[in-house]
Amino acid sequence: MDQLKIRVEDIPEQGMTLALEIAAEEVEARLSELEGEPLSVAAPLTIRLQLAPTGARIVTRGSIRTAIRSGCARCLDEFEQPVNEAVFTVFAPDSELDRRDEREAEALNQELYSGEEIDLWPVVQEQIILAVPIKPLCREDCQGLCPDCGRNRNQGSCDCGRTTGHPGLAGLEALRDKLPR
Ligand SMILES: [Zn+2]
Ligand SMILES: [Zn+2]
Repeated sequence: MDQLKIRVEDIPEQGMTLALEIAAEEVEARLSELEGEPLSVAAPLTIRLQLAPTGARIVTRGSIRTAIRSGCARCLDEFEQPVNEAVFTVFAPDSELDRRDEREAEALNQELYSGEEIDLWPVVQEQIILAVPIKPLCREDCQGLCPDCGRNRNQGSCDCGRTTGHPGLAGLEALRDKLPR
């Protein structure tokens, strides 16, 4: 049974809270159905959602939390990127909207559902994917690798370039020597 598929008639009029934890391996398996680089999930996915029906619509809000293991785009170190995202979506029955309204639905954070159940996974999945940057950085000021010796500059500086000084500065010094005094 898929815990993220909720039968609409099971949602009480006063709404309900959904609190779930899904194992990292299961999240990873679900995400692996997507195209592109597979994501490595480093922590269980915690889902906490409030489902509130208004007529045939279901207002869904809450948050999700997990962590994704990424390689830093600068220093190549592996690190865990925390994912902590808010969720807000309104599920609307597709019978209620014409095809031409689909764009509008997207703009309003609406997710269309057909039949008797809503599927929360696509909404959760989208938040996870949006939370992972294309070029992840282990930290904002990551110093990256030295292009000469390959040393990770976050772990200390290397001696490359130190003996000759900054090439720009050397040029300035040479120029200064030529200036009339
Ligand atoms: Zn880094
Ligand atoms: Zn170096």
